[in-house]
Amino acid sequence: MKRSLTTISEKITLLNQTILDSMVEKNSKEIVRDFTETGIRILGADFGFAWWKFKNSGEYALAYKSPNTPYNPTLPRKRAGNYIALKTKKPFFDSKVEEQNYEFNISRYLKSYIIIPIYHKNHIYGNIVLCYKKPHSFSKEELTLAQAIGHTTAQAITIHRLVKTEILLHQEKLKTEFIANATHELRTPLAIMKGNIDLANGSGKGAPRALKKALSEVNYEVSHLSKILADLEILVSEDKNLSQMLVMKPVKLVPLIEDITKRLRAVSQAKNISIRAVKGKKANFLVQGDEKYLEKLFLNLIKNAITYGRKDGQILIETAQNKNKLEIRVSDNGIGISKEDLPRIFDRFYRADKAHTGGGNHSGLGLAIAKWVVEAHGGTLGVKSKGGEGSTFTVTLPLINKIERINPK
Ligand code: ADP
Repeated sequence: MKRSLTTISEKITLLNQTILDSMVEKNSKEIVRDFTETGIRILGADFGFAWWKFKNSGEYALAYKSPNTPYNPTLPRKRAGNYIALKTKKPFFDSKVEEQNYEFNISRYLKSYIIIPIYHKNHIYGNIVLCYKKPHSFSKEELTLAQAIGHTTAQAITIHRLVKTEILLHQEKLKTEFIANATHELRTPLAIMKGNIDLANGSGKGAPRALKKALSEVNYEVSHLSKILADLEILVSEDKNLSQMLVMKPVKLVPLIEDITKRLRAVSQAKNISIRAVKGKKANFLVQGDEKYLEKLFLNLIKNAITYGRKDGQILIETAQNKNKLEIRVSDNGIGISKEDLPRIFDRFYRADKAHTGGGNHSGLGLAIAKWVVEAHGGTLGVKSKGGEGSTFTVTLPLINKIERINPK
């Protein structure tokens, strides 16, 4: 049962307690609930509810309704009180509800109400509405307290969100540190194993064929693991100073892509996939970048187009200038990516079609690295795909000069 508080110091103590209790380990709606109940106790209202204002649409939703609320609020068409409270950033009240002033039968349920805006700095969360069954005139002190309830609610929500973000960032940092340490620890035993395998392979001229076969299989797996470690190292070094990692110089992209395509010819031919490159007329595009990483980026994208491309299929690589940017599109007509998988393919270790890519050199790190490389070069990586029809990955990179004519000399 609600008990009304008599002294102002009692009311302020309750407000302070509520703000402390609310800040951590609660979600925003629970914080609003606590403050609505506190508002009822401090201002002696009969019941209350709170509207939540959505950031993007500006729509209201019922965030909380106090227990045994006799009035089931429906959103007033004009939402006048809510708007006024939020606009003026001051509590809006009506001490004596007159039926003719409202579009719906409000006085059946309450004779007075106060709407308290919940805002912090310029961020508006919503409103707390406190209702009285009998007419209630608001004293100056009550209006000040109402305003304090609105402020403290908003502050509690803001602080709670900041704490939550901070915790998430901290967890991400711990994960990154863990991967960095684990990678470092795994590298040494792998190097030793590889050395021993090479030694055994070289010295064992008379070694039985089965042993040689076993050794070469282990060798393959060791190389694969080493590759995953190298990829992981790139990903966890995101936090480090990028300029230290990348060796930037002007890079001609078209020959770089042509070279990758040539290197992948054996793999594409095995599936009878044709690769066609279309480039802007007579132009050589220059971007400022690290050749080694740019090569890795396009290698990953083109290799994927082959891996997930259909047999006898086609891959199209288009390079074109779009204002001061270079756009490179790698399209295939392969298995495509489903709507559900699409938002996740850039996540580390994510593989959409585990059955199709089972085993082999598929770590699910290729696209995470591709994205990292593009972003480290100030560009973007996008994808359009439809399950069963194929995918197009689009890289945009800033151009350092518009077009450099090929100089035959
Ligand atoms: P993986 O090592 O598994 O290829 P990636 O990070 O390169 O890892 O890709 C992640 C997942 O995205 C792949 O497992 C695959 O399901 C999907 N994918 C990537 N490229 C394509 C493509 N061109 N067509 C269809 N699916 C693709």
